[in-house]
Amino acid sequence: MKEPFLSAVPVIQKLESAGFEAYFVGGSVRDLLLNKPINDVDIATSATPEEVKQCFSKTVDVGIEHGTVLVLYQNKSYEITTFRTEAEYEDYRRPKEVSFIRNLREDLQRRDFTMNAMAMDKDGNLIDPFDGQAAIKNKVIQTVGKATDRFQEDALRMMRAVRFVSQLSFQIEKETLNALVDLGHLLDKIAVERKQAEFDKLLFGINRKQAIQLILQTNLYSYLPGLADKENNLKLMLEHRLDRLNTREMWALLGYCLKIEKKEMEEFLKGWRFPSKEIREILNILHYLNIRFKASWSSYDLYAARKKTFVSAEMLYLVISGIESVDSIQDYIDLYERLPIKERSEMDLTGNDLIGWFNKSGGPWVKELLIKVEEAIVEGTVGNNKKIIKEWLMECNHN
Ligand code: ATP
Ligand code: MG
Repeated sequence: MKEPFLSAVPVIQKLESAGFEAYFVGGSVRDLLLNKPINDVDIATSATPEEVKQCFSKTVDVGIEHGTVLVLYQNKSYEITTFRTEAEYEDYRRPKEVSFIRNLREDLQRRDFTMNAMAMDKDGNLIDPFDGQAAIKNKVIQTVGKATDRFQEDALRMMRAVRFVSQLSFQIEKETLNALVDLGHLLDKIAVERKQAEFDKLLFGINRKQAIQLILQTNLYSYLPGLADKENNLKLMLEHRLDRLNTREMWALLGYCLKIEKKEMEEFLKGWRFPSKEIREILNILHYLNIRFKASWSSYDLYAARKKTFVSAEMLYLVISGIESVDSIQDYIDLYERLPIKERSEMDLTGNDLIGWFNKSGGPWVKELLIKVEEAIVEGTVGNNKKIIKEWLMECNHN
């Protein structure tokens, strides 16, 4: 047994010694068999949430209505979920209520794909009633049970299938794929937040290009916010080398391919329920990308955009222009690092200085002049020193 499972073994032992069953389940077991890095281990148990809470001194109720308790143990946290079924689904969505059960097999049976429906005990023995190991060996994504039933229970599973295509470079098994084509329209019933989380992961997967292709081929794009009639725009994404872009840059590229104005792009991102800070950052990248298409970066643009934004905008510029070398990014970072100031607050000048020097009452002119000086400092025209700034202003009669 290796980390992070090893540290969690005492957690399982604790539940077992209280008379319950407990296993590692889900993505962590899959990723272990795939030799992939494992983020967090999920544990499933026959203990009810209340019983789990009695076994540990530090717990947090994170999703108790779904049977999940967060256990803090030796500075690590574990999500422990009670075996459950989701017998009654409403309106193609996740059920509102779940029933807790004492049986592992039934818990595995309600999981989405065979590769995700394995459990492992504390000694490393696999419990694999749906042959998830074969799915992993053959690199296939296949629902547990009949695909049409499973997608009708929870339509998000269709998005998850394509997201796993992107992350794992697996193929979707034929019947599962057919069901996905037939039932794609059920995605309309799914909360945008859930679709967003899967699409976000899809955009960042190693096999993202094939996944986007699949979204197109299967018509799933028609049921995603703001993409219903954007087949040709989505296709444009495939013309570029996508592997260099992070998730935010992928969203910005999508915006670029949509060929929409800023306001519309803002609405598009709102439609995907992005928080406003994230919307601002994506719009900013697109703004500087536009500027970049017209000219190379000026010192002031680098300063105004800030590092994270100009690095992203430059990366997108290179990708869209089909430029292989990314050396320019480092060159611009070097230029940025050498800027005399990085923030307005670092200026050796305040509005009060200006009001005193020019002996005028405050007004819009103060802000305008501050910006002028800021630009001059950033561009290296004047040093960032009160005395020098004053001389420069008097000399050019900037009043
Ligand atoms: P990741 O590595 O991205 O976390 P994951 O497989 O762990 O992938 P999660 O969303 O964390 O995905 O879900 C954990 C497990 O819960 C899955 O492996 C699967 O067994 C089950 N699961 C998650 N979502 C669904 C769903 N919509 N329907 C059925 N089972 C699901
Ligand atoms: Mg997970």
